[in-house]
Amino acid sequence: MPKIINFHDIYDPQWFRDTIEVILESYEIVPFSIIKDFYNGKKINPKAVHLTIDDGNISTYTIIYPILKELGLTASIFVSPKIIKDQTNFWYAECGDYETEQLKECIAEVLEISKEKLANFYPISVMKTLSLATNWEIIKTYQNKFNIPTKSCQYITVEQLLELEHSGIFTIGAHTMNHPILANESNIISEKEIKDSITELSELLGRNVESFAYPNGSKGLDFGKREIDILKQCNINYAFSFEFKNLNLSDNLLTVPRYGLYHGDKNFIRKKLKFGAIWEPFKKVVFNNEDKHRKLIKKSLSV
Ligand SMILES: [Zn+2]
Repeated sequence: MPKIINFHDIYDPQWFRDTIEVILESYEIVPFSIIKDFYNGKKINPKAVHLTIDDGNISTYTIIYPILKELGLTASIFVSPKIIKDQTNFWYAECGDYETEQLKECIAEVLEISKEKLANFYPISVMKTLSLATNWEIIKTYQNKFNIPTKSCQYITVEQLLELEHSGIFTIGAHTMNHPILANESNIISEKEIKDSITELSELLGRNVESFAYPNGSKGLDFGKREIDILKQCNINYAFSFEFKNLNLSDNLLTVPRYGLYHGDKNFIRKKLKFGAIWEPFKKVVFNNEDKHRKLIKKSLSV
């Protein structure tokens, strides 16, 4: 069955080339229109794969774009119009490389809990259980405490976005304004994050936006029925989550599953594509993956 494969930022062009090469060994990379054809009941190549790239990191422009262009391939990208216009960073990009113990110290300070409570947890996983406002408070605390300046922007510019749009290579969709874990936000904030991103991206591109990707993307953990209902109101036709599943005609079009590929050599990628749909759900049950880790954090902190 067809599938969708997702990437984020790419640091190594060779890794991206190798991964595309592995995908092309067994699959045909198709534009988003073919995925729409599939959901409209048309017969498509069962080995069809569509590529998506989340966040609009600068590597979308500097690495992914030239390689796809050279190979004559297409993809979808999901971006925040706010980050692109303001040239700032998403919260997780701002603090992603902060020193673990120091970051835990700041989380404990802001949450007014003892640091020992965080001993067994990854700080970024803890932050994924908190609201955007709390996370920025933690980041500001860290910057003040350890005299760390705000990072320069790691995302594409408006000009680059428009070049990608006009290249004919990319289908562009929305990805909220500030990349919060929507499930951690109030009704008002979740709605604003989604709606504003769709309206402002439509204005930037001068056309309607019909697709959306949930930040972090795990159904039930990162978003739920509330977000799906907001997307319906915004006339979004396709919204993308993360789940190691091939596409199926019975999919909910507002929770289309995607395989995430972020690392590993050619053999690892080959296996992940072949067995991911079997292996990943099994791993979820057996190992302490991020979903489980975050549930444990929530329980432990009761926040
Ligand atoms: Zn994202």
